[in-house]
Amino acid sequence: MDKLSEKYLRARKIPSTACSGCGLGQAHKAFVQAIDELNFGIDDILWGTSIGCSGRQTFGTWKGDNFAGTHGRVYAIARGLRLAIAPEMKIVLTVGDGDAFGIGLNHLLHAARTNTQMTVLVCDNLGYQSTGGQYGWTTPPGVKTDSSPYGMYEPNWVQSGRDVLNIIQAAGATFLARHVSMEGRPLVDTLKKALQNNGFSLVHCVFPCITNFAKNALGSRNSVNMFNWVRNHAAPLGQEAGGREIFWRTGIYHDASNTRAEFSQSVKEKTAEIQREVSG
Ligand code: SF4
Repeated sequence: MDKLSEKYLRARKIPSTACSGCGLGQAHKAFVQAIDELNFGIDDILWGTSIGCSGRQTFGTWKGDNFAGTHGRVYAIARGLRLAIAPEMKIVLTVGDGDAFGIGLNHLLHAARTNTQMTVLVCDNLGYQSTGGQYGWTTPPGVKTDSSPYGMYEPNWVQSGRDVLNIIQAAGATFLARHVSMEGRPLVDTLKKALQNNGFSLVHCVFPCITNFAKNALGSRNSVNMFNWVRNHAAPLGQEAGGREIFWRTGIYHDASNTRAEFSQSVKEKTAEIQREVSG
């Protein structure tokens, strides 16, 4: 067990509940690294999750307070918890793409609208991998999956002009970014920025699913090929030249950190105002 894992994570969940070669561990490790570099301790973080590969990996892994919500409802639970816990305690969530951009999108938009402090790391395994590898809301165009053997044909949330991050920005999120999990240092630095926003932050992190996605899309479970495939379809925002087909533009999409009142602050101020009025 490395030093960071020993400091923050429960031994029985180490190294991971994910399949061997899965990129989920990279995404989680980057989050723990960011927390450590900001000098947060176990008692400074409340860590939530919900379902799927990401939920299974996350639940009960953090040594401190943690919780799991039902599918897609974890943002609503987090908003309630935000009102109940100390303002200086951070809420972080690690969730899957189905949870965030599918069944949970409505709840997620309301968390963004109200600028509720939470840092959501969307661990995107490119489809429904825990149920066998069906295509999902972020499966890239043309890619073969268990349920799209002739290629992903539905419009999705990563295609140009239909980027889900634009929707979340319009809803009111104050920090939005995207990375692929093997980026390492840039991902850690972005997560640090996200954690320093006293409002709603979301970082979309794409990682390779070796077990189902690689088998269907690339014809083998070779992890090096899969990691390279993801890397080759990503480029930093504004540097997409080169004729490559890019699915993921990486970097910070939107940073309006600490420019709007945070949800629990607004509620507490309004409550105090009403109490003053009522008591005359
Ligand atoms: S099914 Fe895919 S995404 Fe899920 S843990 Fe295994 S490799 Fe990772």
